[in-house]
Amino acid sequence: METLRAENVAKRYGNKQALDGVTISAESGLITAILGPNGAGKTTLIRITMTLIHPDRGKISILGKDPFMEKDVFKRVGYVQELPNLPPFLSGRELLELSARLKGVERGDVKRVLELVGMTENADRKIAKYSKGMVQRIALAEALLGNPELLVMDEPNVGTDPILNLKMRDVLNELIKSGTTVVMTSHELEEVRKLAHRVIFIYRGKVFFSGTTEELVLRF
Ligand code: ADP
Ligand code: ADP
Repeated sequence: METLRAENVAKRYGNKQALDGVTISAESGLITAILGPNGAGKTTLIRITMTLIHPDRGKISILGKDPFMEKDVFKRVGYVQELPNLPPFLSGRELLELSARLKGVERGDVKRVLELVGMTENADRKIAKYSKGMVQRIALAEALLGNPELLVMDEPNVGTDPILNLKMRDVLNELIKSGTTVVMTSHELEEVRKLAHRVIFIYRGKVFFSGTTEELVLRF
């Protein structure tokens, strides 16, 4: 099933055409990567699908709905921003408990997601004391609260954190087995090759390739 679709999306900042008629889709049970160098338009595209930016034109569909019209659909979506900015004065567990309450997710789920990302032991330390990789893992745990049907990760940069690197593959594979759709962005072919099934390569706001990871590796 097609979980996420962006159709003919365009966005201009001043005279910079950040996205120029981009169409992408992601299906359940697969990890789809949006690959491209810095400045390609990946974050702009993700932020448009999350309705944080209005596109100049184009249409978005998430779980069969127009998210600009039906914000409720975000209850079924987990989103990890690029370089997540989490409150440093809370512990990882406190943040997740707060987040669970705001999302209406039962508290027991905090334990599950902490284990999933390998942060149980560090859960009671302040976020201020975390490494970048640990912040990334807590942000992922937060996105996984309540078992979203769609997980979107902007530049998870798993390579920078050895545990995240080890865990991410397993965590994502578990998720897709249970029917979750995973969409991630990356500027590293190696990361995409390790994690994703399908790749959409974007460059200067246009889609240049869309297909399986194997096809991409064979062609480039
Ligand atoms: P990425 O790592 O995805 O390339 P950027 O460094 O391009 O991210 O962008 C980081 C933040 O700065 C984003 O919020 C983006 O909207 C903003 N930004 C990026 N480029 C510009 C620019 N030329 N003018 C103003 N804001 C920008
Ligand atoms: P990526 O995530 O692939 O690095 P972005 O979507 O962050 O790409 O940026 C695409 C282009 O748009 C870049 O040239 C960036 O500098 C520019 N850009 C991004 N955000 C802004 C912004 N808020 N204002 C002006 N330019 C921006």
